[in-house]
Amino acid sequence: MKIIIMGPQGCGKSTQAEGLSKKFNIPHISSGDIFRDLEKSQTDLGKRIWKALFLGKLVSDNDTMLVIKEKLSKKEYEGGFILDGFPRNLYQAKHSPFKPDIVLYLKVSEEVSLNRLIERKREDDTPEIIKMRLSEYHKNTTPVLDYYKRLGILKTFDGEQQVEDIQKELVEEIEE
Ligand code: AMP
Repeated sequence: MKIIIMGPQGCGKSTQAEGLSKKFNIPHISSGDIFRDLEKSQTDLGKRIWKALFLGKLVSDNDTMLVIKEKLSKKEYEGGFILDGFPRNLYQAKHSPFKPDIVLYLKVSEEVSLNRLIERKREDDTPEIIKMRLSEYHKNTTPVLDYYKRLGILKTFDGEQQVEDIQKELVEEIEE
């Protein structure tokens, strides 16, 4: 099963994806993790990724598609996966190398995700970068949500509930 999990940064999608990955025994892939790994490499690609992350911007669509295609072509993902962080805009959704079976969207207000992110404080998280990322996220992903809605595969969940309650709802949806 090919699952996409979406929601603004701080919505808890990594935690949820990890839980689903264990429950259904499918690998969890995070585009953010892939990019955080690649930014350390001293290649041209690595340097472009480092710059995007540093500025709180999206990695270019060209680089993203290349990296995602390469990653998903690995044998370990043949049987399915749960992907978080991709697609981030309509271009990526339309040019995706796979068709998702289901798209899980965790809806969280801007205020709640901002507070959660400030508490989490990753190395590349300053309040300015976080705010920029959130506003970029909403601008870019609203058309993606509409796109999947039209395809009839978008399922929306209240991401402000307790972690366990969200997990239960997601599991029920996938098992259906
Ligand atoms: P995340 O861990 O999902 O918040 O991603 C961290 C950073 O990686 C983002 O701020 C972007 O710079 C980059 N990134 C992750 N996924 C994508 C994507 N699908 N397209 C472009 N950039 C991405």
